[in-house]
Amino acid sequence: MAALNTPRLELQAISHSFGVGLAVDSLSLQLHAGEVICLLGPSGCGKSTTLRIAAGVEQQNAGAVLVDGQVVSDATQHMPPERRSIGLMFQDFALFPHLDVAHNIAFGLTGTKGEKLARVGALLERVELVGYDKKYPHELSGGEQQRVALARAVAPRPRVLLMDEPFSGLDDRLRDGVRDATLELLKDEGSAVLLVTHEPQEAMRMADQIALMRDGRIMQQGAPYNIYNAPMDRDAAGFFSDINVVSGVVKNALTETPFGQFLVPGCADGAEVEIIIRPQHLRMDFDRQGRGPNPTAKEGTPAKGIVSRARYLGDHSLVEFEMDYDGSRLQVTVPGVFLPESGRVLWLSMRRDRCFVFPKV
Ligand code: ATP
Repeated sequence: MAALNTPRLELQAISHSFGVGLAVDSLSLQLHAGEVICLLGPSGCGKSTTLRIAAGVEQQNAGAVLVDGQVVSDATQHMPPERRSIGLMFQDFALFPHLDVAHNIAFGLTGTKGEKLARVGALLERVELVGYDKKYPHELSGGEQQRVALARAVAPRPRVLLMDEPFSGLDDRLRDGVRDATLELLKDEGSAVLLVTHEPQEAMRMADQIALMRDGRIMQQGAPYNIYNAPMDRDAAGFFSDINVVSGVVKNALTETPFGQFLVPGCADGAEVEIIIRPQHLRMDFDRQGRGPNPTAKEGTPAKGIVSRARYLGDHSLVEFEMDYDGSRLQVTVPGVFLPESGRVLWLSMRRDRCFVFPKV
């Protein structure tokens, strides 16, 4: 019997290579009951390989996989996927075409006929497909098929559910609804879920923890709020939204920029740094405001920008600027409709607590 705080799934220093370089590089991860962790990262960073190793479809070159504290794969043993008590839901969530919905969901179930019927009935209700039990996959829409696949994956109450881009086949309109329904079901079932996605918004929406991957490694792991608001470097910041970059050089633990001074503790004099700010965190004013360069104030000095283009994007407006100080381009978003004409002068300022300062690499 596993101790109360034993992870449902644990990856210990997993490494794997397909020949050239490491697809997964000494990766460790713990996933607990009721938790959803998203592996997020650019194409080719090793997300799917990690998931496949956890599932047992791929055998790692080094490291160990544990389910409920028991080693299921290491250098000396390798338990096949079907014996790991792990549910899988991959991109091509193919349902069995010759089985109706009820039999698809019941496929991995054990127990009496009555027990199976009860579980299938409860899950059909849960994914809002009551009355669909006798339909065949080809009679269902993409979203409906997806919900059947989800019900099938969770039906046997797997210890861990592994999902690889499970919503990528759905159009935008369906996706949010199916994602939310999925999350609700997974939480109700207390499932431990490892989900692979390359979409930051999906990870933000689904995850308790985001594990940001790059080059086969987890570079940063934390709650979505923390990852978004305290990224470890420029690439991590830029993975979640467009970013604006202002360059500076360090002098006496400060850097002087057209937006005022910024504290850069620990950086040597002469070092180049980058100040990163997301478009929604730049402020636009019609007039220059009288704020002096004071590194402790929240907002620095306003800098003059000339509107090059403004576009309305539905729920917000995007205004692009050419900056007066060096011709560089910055972009700002604001909720609602704000469409200043090209050539208009506006003053931009940065809230220091919304900026990230990183050494230039
Ligand atoms: P994507 O988001 O595009 O699916 P990913 O982050 O899931 O990417 P992986 O599929 O894990 O990345 O691939 C990691 C690396 O391993 C890539 O360089 C890929 O080309 C390589 N790779 C993956 N599977 C194989 C394979 N079967 N044979 C050879 N190389 C592979």
